[in-house]
Parts: sequence; structure tokens; C-alpha cells
Amino acid sequence: MALRNIVLEGDEILNKRAREVTVINDRILITLDDMLETMRENNGLGIAAPQVGILRRMFIVEVDDQLIEIINPEIVETRGEQQVEEGCLSVPGLVGTVERPEYVKMTGLNRKGEKIEIEGTGLLAVALSHEYDHLEGILFTQKATEIRDAFVEEDIEE
Ligand code: ZN
Repeated sequence: MALRNIVLEGDEILNKRAREVTVINDRILITLDDMLETMRENNGLGIAAPQVGILRRMFIVEVDDQLIEIINPEIVETRGEQQVEEGCLSVPGLVGTVERPEYVKMTGLNRKGEKIEIEGTGLLAVALSHEYDHLEGILFTQKATEIRDAFVEEDIEE
């Protein structure tokens, strides 16, 4: 595995709709491995392929020791709503309040090409929604009602 550079806000790849993964080949699997290492190195809860410069529909989420890797995800159901403060590896130093569903169900493929169904509530639903947005070319800063300096926020909490 190898660390990849994280694409930052301002790079137009983050505003483009990612393309379907048509064949799960070694290149795709290596990209997923590298995404996981890069996400963990940067203490992220999730990472989507466009964030490492690959405009393909796949992402990883890791919340409460639950690791989810999904290719060609589709949202099949959402319920409720929650207001949450979130940040993004591609927008370092900033957080914002975003409205997300309380519950999300998605279908997609795992790395073996098998169909999977995943469900999440609370923080997992937030992470799944956030990463899915990356595949649509949407950053949380486009949805957030308040965008603040993350470090100032931490100081206030202390
Ligand atoms: Zn993000």
C-alpha cells in the first residue's frame, strides 16, 4: 500500500461526477488499498476515490471500527434528518453544519464484485452521505449553513 496525495478544494476534479467502475481490476484494488492507508494516516472517517484523483465511483468509510468499502454505490433509502458538524480531508481546517439523513441504506459492490447492502444511522449515515456526495462532485462546503475554522472551534471547547 502507499499513501496518496489528497486532492484539495479548488481542484476541479472534486466538482465532477465520478464514473462507474466497469471492471474491478488490480488498479482498482490497489487504489482502494491506498485510499484506506491514506484515510487512516490522516485520521479520516471516510475517503472517496476522487479525493485521491481517481474519478471513479467508490469510497471507504470507517466509523466505530466498522470498515465499509463500496463500489458503484446507490442510495436506495433515506429516513429522517440530523444536523451535524462535519469536516473533510479535502477541506483542511474547516468544519460546517450540514443537514444529513438520520438513516441511509445503500447497495453496491464489494471488492470481489459481489452485491452488498449497507445501512447506517447516526455518524455512519453522515459519513456514507458525505462520501456519496463526493462521487456526485459535491463538497460539504456547498451544503453547510455555517463554515467555521476547525481549530478555533476546538479552542472554544477546551
Ligand atoms: Zn470529504
